[in-house]
Amino acid sequence: MSTEYLPKVVMSIHAHPDDQEFSIGGTLAKWARAGCEIVSVTITSGDSGSNDPSKGADYKPVLAELREKEQHAANEILGVKETVFMRYPDGELEPTIALRRELTRLIRMYKPDVVLTGNPEAWFYGNEYVNHPDHRAAAQAACEAVFPSAGSRLIFADLLTEGFEPHEVKRLYVHGTEKPDTWVDVSETIDIKVKALQQHASQVPVDEVEKWMKDWAKEDAKDKEFEYAESYRVMILKKEEEHEK
Ligand SMILES: [Zn+2]
Repeated sequence: MSTEYLPKVVMSIHAHPDDQEFSIGGTLAKWARAGCEIVSVTITSGDSGSNDPSKGADYKPVLAELREKEQHAANEILGVKETVFMRYPDGELEPTIALRRELTRLIRMYKPDVVLTGNPEAWFYGNEYVNHPDHRAAAQAACEAVFPSAGSRLIFADLLTEGFEPHEVKRLYVHGTEKPDTWVDVSETIDIKVKALQQHASQVPVDEVEKWMKDWAKEDAKDKEFEYAESYRVMILKKEEEHEK
């Protein structure tokens, strides 16, 4: 008998527009279609994502606007209910107390059962990709906001006076880990993931991403009974009944 966990409200926290689509788009599309409310938080608006020699600093706000539009389009395809942009500067993100506090406020506001984010421990992937420091910073701040500050009454006590009571997140889904313990079958939503990712046309080679995503998801599903997967390390912070499939 297989059981599959289905949360009611989830929050995705990532550094840049497109990070979410690359990593957890299949899971979000699947959960949204099963009735889950998705809140998508993007910490920077990707305003440094261009190496066009004809563009300078004055292009940054233009690029931010374009990338937010692309993120909105992707979120619509995935079935995201709420889209939040925090508008920190792209490429300069740090896991500060200020960022942790703002994420804590968002978690207390939207009350997700699950937060999904990247792996704050990941410096390198394979031999060709040094993880972007913004990814590590976003993931670290997200994990630290989930625990302990979202659920601890007297951490960021000024949030209480703003009306934000503590909220305990039940599960933390960390993607991009070399030691996953949970695989979400995304066979039915892999094409939606690809389509969502293709909305980031200013950043990704639209014609190539289908093969990339399917190759990765097939690799993630190796030795599993389904074709495509997204894999996670899941921290179960609060136990609850699982839904039987
Ligand atoms: Zn990124």
